[in-house]
Amino acid sequence: MRENKNVLITGSTSGIGLASAQVLAEAGFNLMLNGLESAEQGEQIAAQLSSEYGVKAFYCQADLSRPVEVELLTKTALSQLGRVDVLVNNAGIQYTESLEHFPLEKWQLIQAINLTAPFLSMQQLMPAMREQKWGRVINIASVHGLVASANKSAYCAAKHGLVGMTKVAAIEYAEAGVTANCICPGWTDTPILNHQFNEYAKAHNFSFEDAQKGLIQTKAPYPHLINPKAIGQAILFLCSDAADAMTGISLPLDGGWTAQ
Ligand code: NAD
Repeated sequence: MRENKNVLITGSTSGIGLASAQVLAEAGFNLMLNGLESAEQGEQIAAQLSSEYGVKAFYCQADLSRPVEVELLTKTALSQLGRVDVLVNNAGIQYTESLEHFPLEKWQLIQAINLTAPFLSMQQLMPAMREQKWGRVINIASVHGLVASANKSAYCAAKHGLVGMTKVAAIEYAEAGVTANCICPGWTDTPILNHQFNEYAKAHNFSFEDAQKGLIQTKAPYPHLINPKAIGQAILFLCSDAADAMTGISLPLDGGWTAQ
C-alpha cells in the first residue's frame, strides 16, 4: 500500500462515511471529509479524528447535488491534501415511493447525488491518479446496484448506474495502476434506514426494534444490521496491495441478500 495516503470521502459526517473515515484514519490515511453540515460542525469532526489518530483531517461543506460544489470539493481536497490517492464516493440519499407516484424532483435529486456526483469527482480526480500511476476509486453502491426492490426506482437506477460506470472506469484505467470498484452493502446500521423502519413499524404495529428485525429478514438471511465499520474495512482491503488486480468488481457486503 502507498505511504502517506490521502483519501477524500464524500458524505463522511454520518453513517458509513464517518465509520470509514475512522477506519482509514486508524490505518494512517489523511482525510478530506465532506457533508452538508456547517463548516463549524464538520471541522469539529475533522479535529476529533485528527487528534485521535494523528493524521491530517479537513472538512469541506459541499452540496453534491450541485456540480459546481462537487468541483469545489475536489479542488479543496487537492489544495488541502496536495494529492488524492483514494476517492470514496459515499454520499447518497434514499426516497421510497411507487414508480407510478415517484416525484420527478426526488428522482432528479437522487440521480444528482448518487450518480452524477461520483461521475464528476471521478472525472476530476482520476487523471492525476493515472499520472502518479496509483489510485483507488471505491464507490459505495448498494445491493440495489445488483438487484431491485419495490418503491426504489430512482435509487436502483442510480446504484445500477454506479455499478456500470465503475466498470467502465476500471477498464479505462486498468493499465495505469488505478482500480475502480463498488462495495454493495445490505442493511447497514445508519440513519438512512430510520424512515423505512418507522414506516414498517407503523404498517405492522411493531416496535422500532421489531420492525428492524422484521424488515431485515424480508431480504437478508443474516438477521442483524451490518456494522458500518465493516464497509470501512472492505475499503481498506481494496486499498491494499492484495487488491492490485481487483478492479471493476461490485463486492456484496449484504448478509446473504444477493445469494438467494
Ligand atoms: P447516512 O444518511 O448516515 O449518511 C449519508 C451521508 O451523505 C451524510 O454524511 C450526509 O451529510 C451526506 N449527504 C447527503 N446528501 C448530500 C449532499 N447533497 N451533498 C453532500 N453530502 C450529502 O447514510 P449511510 O447509510 O451512511 O449512506 C452512505 C452510502 O451508503 C449511501 O450512498 C447509501 O446509498 C449507501 N448504502 C447504505 C445502506 C444502508 O443500509 N445504510 C445500504 C446500501 C448502501
